[in-house]
Parts: sequence; structure tokens; C-alpha cells
Amino acid sequence: MKKDTYKNKATFLEKLKTKSKREANLFFSLCEDDSEIVNTKKFKEVLLNSGLKANDKRLYNLFQNLDAHGDKIVFEDFIDIIRSSELIVEKSLRGELSIPDFSYFAKNLDSMFDEVKKIKTGELASYIPPLAEVDPDQFGVAIVTADGQIYQKGDSNVDFSIQSMCKPFNYCFAMERLGLEKVHQHVGQEPSGRQFDDLTLLAKTAIGDLQGEHAKDNRNGKSSRVPFNPMVNAGAIMTAGLIGPEESHSQRLRYIRQQFGRLIGWSPKDDFGAELPRFNKNMARQENFTGYNNIAMGYLLMATGNLPHTKTKLHNDIHPDEDEFDFYTEPAVTEALKLYFSICSLEMTSVNFATAAATLANSGVNPLTQDRVLSQKTVRNCLPVLQTSGMYNASGTFFQQVGLPAKSGVGGGVILIVPRLMGICIFSPRLDKQGNSVRGIEMARRITSKYLVHTFDGTMTDTDRLDPKIPISKWRANSCGEAIWAASNGNIRTLERLVSEQRDLQNGDYDMRTPLHLASAEGQLEAVQFLLKQGVKPIPDRWGGYGYFDAKNNNHKEIVKEFEKLDIDYTQASHLIEDPNGKTDKMAIYDDELAVIELLFAASENNVEGIRNLVAKGIPVHAGDYDSRTALHLAAAEGCLDVVEYLVTHGHPLFVRDRWGATPLDEAKREKRKSVINYLKDLIN
Ligand code: GLU
Repeated sequence: MKKDTYKNKATFLEKLKTKSKREANLFFSLCEDDSEIVNTKKFKEVLLNSGLKANDKRLYNLFQNLDAHGDKIVFEDFIDIIRSSELIVEKSLRGELSIPDFSYFAKNLDSMFDEVKKIKTGELASYIPPLAEVDPDQFGVAIVTADGQIYQKGDSNVDFSIQSMCKPFNYCFAMERLGLEKVHQHVGQEPSGRQFDDLTLLAKTAIGDLQGEHAKDNRNGKSSRVPFNPMVNAGAIMTAGLIGPEESHSQRLRYIRQQFGRLIGWSPKDDFGAELPRFNKNMARQENFTGYNNIAMGYLLMATGNLPHTKTKLHNDIHPDEDEFDFYTEPAVTEALKLYFSICSLEMTSVNFATAAATLANSGVNPLTQDRVLSQKTVRNCLPVLQTSGMYNASGTFFQQVGLPAKSGVGGGVILIVPRLMGICIFSPRLDKQGNSVRGIEMARRITSKYLVHTFDGTMTDTDRLDPKIPISKWRANSCGEAIWAASNGNIRTLERLVSEQRDLQNGDYDMRTPLHLASAEGQLEAVQFLLKQGVKPIPDRWGGYGYFDAKNNNHKEIVKEFEKLDIDYTQASHLIEDPNGKTDKMAIYDDELAVIELLFAASENNVEGIRNLVAKGIPVHAGDYDSRTALHLAAAEGCLDVVEYLVTHGHPLFVRDRWGATPLDEAKREKRKSVINYLKDLIN
């Protein structure tokens, strides 16, 4: 690297900004080394690291253009090239996709996957022979976010049988064609608490008009009974019966396959995306041969008068034999069953299912194709039923523990929907007694115990779980930054609010500096008293220093007295600064205080991606915190050479001094970070 790159870089950014500020920050975040160009390979790599896939339709033109430009592009090319997919590129570079820290998220999912893979309990479903023939060890996980980021692991590209996971979608398709009211004249939305294939029906006359087990229809005195909800077999046979009863079987099945196709990225217009789900004819036949309960259910539904008739008329054949007649089976029943069995026999991959689930999470728009497959209203009406009835008769427990709308099937699949964020599919064929995938349930549990995605998590702040929508450095900044800034500014109101939010006021930053240190350093007596009264314990910072010495060194006598009341043996900090009177560069003041803390956390954890995102948002790399610490101080202290290089090549000055006069080189020396020392020395000499 040329020695004065860091100086030139700052001027370079200013120059770019005169042309176009937004794109300037994006471009600048990608520049590497000492050049003023972007390496196209690197650009692609950054996009892919954010969870986007090379075969993403939305990036097609962009990747083509990049290839056409060869290895490197200048700013003008960049503006031109990103035009085709500007929003998605901008979100990716700024870390604003649904899950901003995608690689960190993927790493966490990987380790959950490895743990859950060890579980071998449960049995294959065996009542339909082909289900008993699958490899029981298969395990796949796929996640698609509302912005189309994709995570996949294990057998995520293996086709498997949809089984009951078709039910929420059939319900949606029926609502799309008939509307909510009409559908619910035929099926309820109440949890049944019974086996999925139970023959009990719910007494009901009209939508939302639940009148108890023996209610009579006022108009004809007839008992009107409907399936409890579309997630039990009776309800699913009914919804199948509602979809196109006037059409032929193949027309109806084609329609359903095409709708599923759109949910997973198939389009009638181009051959870019996914294929239609595969129909496993043998599975359908076996469903038929073994499905006496379902067949009985079909007739029961006809008996209640609720299953719509098909076009086929009752035939009046007079049999020539006196003691014979042509036995009649109602075509509406057989057609509904045939369609239901066929749909249960569709096959897709975990990635496909996750995309369909993501379409539900994204209010009906497929995030990868932007195709609106279902209306918002349909999705809004479907998800509550999934939440209360999607996991067989373990739905209540599942709702409490995992707290997400979900649907499982005896093929071993489970889909989960995190509204507005992502769709998840887990596939592993060994089932528990309720018929849910054992690993599927365990994986779902682990996801909600690591991440704040339970429907009712919104009310909890006293937790050390993570919010996948927030970058990890920002999450860490949130856990301490607000309290430290408030203490440093003597803002008691904010401290009081943080206490009622059950925030831990003892939390330290990347230097283990705490609210108590900063209140002491800044002479905020009231804040010091407030914190001590809250039971906050003085603890040493990175350099072994207590707030006591912050107060003492800055001559805040009243605060010193407060500390002396406590019976603690305070140690003095040791900063080891080589030349306190040497050259000084200016750190930047940036008004988004939390963003600065986020930047410094990212620097201390060698998180180049996190820093790049902040640079793309226009945050100056050399912004300083309440102790005038900068990202370069932190990266140097922690020996994060990648970050050090990134910062310097993006204009971070070298002689910034913190509250105690230490430069980044002092930090590297004190912590004996050899590679950083060499790198910085080389630039300085
Ligand atoms: N085809 C299956 C049946 O109706 C679906 C079962 C399920 O996944 O719950 O028996």
C-alpha cells in the first residue's frame, strides 16, 4: 500500500460525493487497497456473502454487466451497472436486508444443525408404504428471507413428500378463488385438539357463528356440521373439494401445481426459475389404497350437505337384472378425495418449501420473483389458523414454546413463518407420537431460543437472545451504548427508562467501560449516585481502571467521595503511551452516537463486513466515542489486521488520540499485536 493512501482516500470520497452522494458511499465501501476502483469479483463476493444467490433473478442483469466489464470498474461504471437492481444492491451493501448479518446468522444455524443432527429418535410414518421407505437419516434446513436471502444446509435440495404441509396452501388457494366468507361456510377456524384424522365435525351455521355441538340451522332445522379447521384432514378434504369442483381432475391439479409453482419461483412466462412440484403418482395411489379414514370423512362431509357437488349428474340406470342395481358413489366425494390425495403426493425440496413459507412471511409476494401469488388478506387470514392448529394436537405446546405459525406433515417436513422476516423449512423424516418431525421441532425450538422471533417476544428486553433483524455490532451497541452515553451526559431520565426496561446498567463496551466509568470521568455526580443506588458495582475497564480514578484524575471530588464510601480496593489504569506529546490527527464527530459504538464494536471483533456496511451508509471511519476512542484504536488493540487495513485504506488517520492520549499504535504495542504493529509502523516511517 502506498504510504499516504489514507489521506488521499478521504479526499477521494469527497470528490465522489460531488457526483452522487448515495452511490459514492456504496462505491467507496467497496474500494480496496490503494486504488480508486472496485474489483468486480470482490463486489460479487460481498453481495453473495449477504445471503443473495448468484442465480437470483433480480441480480441477473447486474452480474452480466459486471462480467462484461472485466476485473475492475470505476465509479461511473458502477452507477451505470447497479441501476438494474439498485435497491437490492443498496440494501445488501448497507447491511439492510432482512437479516443484515447473514454470515453470522448462517454460522449460528450451522451449529444448531450439527447439534440437532445427533438426534436419532422418532419413527418413520408407515401407514402409507412409500413413506416408510425413505432414508430416515435425511436432514435438511432451508431459510428464505423476505428479501430473498437464502440459507441452506444438509439435504435441502432433496425432494420430499409435502403431505399435510399442503393444507395451509390449499386453504389459501380456496380463499383466493372463493373469498373468506364462502370458504368458512364449509370449514371452521377453531382448534380441534383432536387427532388430524378424527371424524368429529364442528356444529356451526355460518362464519364466526359458533353455536355449540347440537346447533340447528334455523332455516331447515338440519344440523350443519363442518370440519374444525382447514389443517385437519376433514378440513383439507373440504378445501380441496372447494377448489374448482366444476373442472376436471387434471385441470384442478394443474391449477394447484401452478400455484405451488409460483410460490417457489416458477413462472409461466420464462424458464428462469423453479420447476413445478413433482407429482408422485405411486404415493397418491398408496394414499388411496390405505386412506379408508379419509374416504369415510369424504362421505361424512357429503352427508352434512357441505361438500359442493361436481358437474356430474346422478345417473338413472335401470339395471337389467331384477336383483341388481348400479351402485352409485358420489363423484363430488371421490373427486375431492382424489384431489386431496394427489396434492398430498406433491414433492418439493426444503429450499422450495422455505420459499413458499417466505411468500407467506412476505404477505403473499414471492421474495425472489416479486410475483404476488396470494393477496395480503388471504395470508392474514391463513396465518392465525396455522398458529393455533398447524402442528397437529401439539399445536398449543408448540405455540407456547416456539410461538410461530407452522405446519408439519408426516413426510417429515415442517414449515415455519416469521411474518415480515423469513420462511423456514426443516426436513427430517423421523416423527414423534403426534406426527411431527423430531428434529424439526427441536430445530424450531433452538431457533426461537437463540433469536427473538416468537410472536410474543416483542414485550421482552431482559433477554440475551439476538434479534436477527439487527446487525450483531448494533445489537451489542444497544446493550450498553445508550446507558453509557446517558451516564456520560448526566441524563437521568434516560437511565430511569433503561432501568424500567430491565437493561443491565453494568454492561461494558469493547473496552469494558461502563456507565459508571463515564459518569465519573465527566463529573456527573447525580448519575454516579443513581447508578450506585441501582446496585451497579464498580468494575475495572480494559486497562484495569475503576471509575474512582476517572473521577480522581479529572478532579471530581464529590464523586471520589461516593466511591470511597464503598469498601473496594480500586486499581489505577495503566495505558502505556509512548509519546503523549507527539503528532495528533483529528477524529471525526458523528451525531449518531449509537452508530459510532456499533462501528467500534465491529472493529473490535474483526467484523469487516459490519464496518463496510457502516461505510456504505456514510458513517466516517474515524468517528470517536465518549472516550475519543476510534475504530482504529479498537482494531489495533484486538489485533484485527483485516479491519486495520480496511480502515486505513478508507481514510482513517493514524495519530488519533483517545482520552488518555493513546494512538492506535500505542494500543497495538501494549497488547503486543505484532502484525498490526508492523503494518502501522511501515506506514508511519
Ligand atoms: N396424506 C396424509 C393423510 O391424509 C397426510 C397426513 C399428514 O401429513 O398429516 O393421511
